[in-house]
Amino acid sequence: MKILVYAEQQDGHLKKSAVEAVSFAKQSFESLGNINITVLLGGQVNQQAAADLGKYGANSVWMPAQSTLNAFEVHLHSAAIQQALVETEAEVLVMAHTYCGKSLAPRLSVAWDAALAAGVNGPPECAADGSWKVQRTVYSNKGIATYSVWGARRILTFTPNALKPSDGASPCAVTAWNVSLDSVSARTRNLELQKVQGKIPLTEAERVISGGRGLKGPEHWHLIEDLAEACDAATACSKPVSDMHWRSHDEHVGQTGITIKPDLYIAVGISGAIQHLAGVSSSKTIVAINTDQDAPFFKVADYGVVGDAFEVLPQLTQAIRRLRKG
Ligand SMILES: Cc1cc2nc3c(=O)[nH]c(=O)nc-3n(C[C@H](O)[C@H](O)[C@H](O)COP(=O)(O)OP(=O)(O)OC[C@H]3O[C@@H](n4cnc5c(N)ncnc54)[C@H](O)[C@@H]3O)c2cc1C
Repeated sequence: MKILVYAEQQDGHLKKSAVEAVSFAKQSFESLGNINITVLLGGQVNQQAAADLGKYGANSVWMPAQSTLNAFEVHLHSAAIQQALVETEAEVLVMAHTYCGKSLAPRLSVAWDAALAAGVNGPPECAADGSWKVQRTVYSNKGIATYSVWGARRILTFTPNALKPSDGASPCAVTAWNVSLDSVSARTRNLELQKVQGKIPLTEAERVISGGRGLKGPEHWHLIEDLAEACDAATACSKPVSDMHWRSHDEHVGQTGITIKPDLYIAVGISGAIQHLAGVSSSKTIVAINTDQDAPFFKVADYGVVGDAFEVLPQLTQAIRRLRKG
């Protein structure tokens, strides 16, 4: 089976989801035997980093020879992927269910006339008749739906952090790939990208410390930031916190914000309303810190601290710093 994996990059660095995408393709289909995974890079990256994708299962990596794709533009990237699908004669396209994947996959599904399984939670179960069984969370994480997917061409997007990438193979060859985009008219252009400096991107973070209205005001956010720094974590917040401009909207998680799936989510002074939980309840371990022992968050938390954030946070931060030093 020929598989094309689209691997995202930013500013010349592979995103974490790139490695996950290759691993996802390998872990999903290696049991079928005789698979060939070509990775199309979403722009130019360091040659060694590209070759290292071979360790996760890539048979070859195609690096665009031109710099045209370095900044994400959906029409250009969609056209490039279509060209690569034809040249590789791929039957399956795998990509992450990220901002880029969500905008590319539906377009490609129509253009390539393919079945689309979007935002799946884990590798598909491959049935003897050639169809796949895939699962995804639905209704704001309140249910899990199972779908059957079939057809000669299929696109699979997976939720980031769905599996641990496993390496073990060898680096692979990286080919400079000539993409012809002259006839593609991009309808939007990225003029500037201002990156939030020095922060771990929320969607890629393995640990997240999140604050709610219980923190009483933005002047107390150093307590969240100190704990985040001690744990190498990203910071997040509830909707009212960003609505009141205590924190910027790019930290707002939940039904109307970002959906995340970190290994550890610590919710501080957040009640646990369903709209908030919709974006965080798939976290692998949840810790809630709240003065109210009846706060809904405690119903979904793996660990809970009934206590005042202003007392608990400094002690927790100190204890973690001590532990990590020793
Ligand atoms: C359509 C819709 C979409 C929404 N989308 C989202 C969304 O995406 N994300 C989101 O977050 N919300 C969303 N909301 C809002 C949501 O319903 C809640 O109102 C919101 O999550 C509450 O935020 P909070 O927990 O920070 O504040 P509160 O509900 O005010 O809770 C504060 C918590 O802090 C605790 N507390 C107080 N003092 C302390 C202290 N000193 N130490 C420790 N704990 C303390 C309190 O006991 C309380 O549990 C949405 C609402 C609607 C209607």
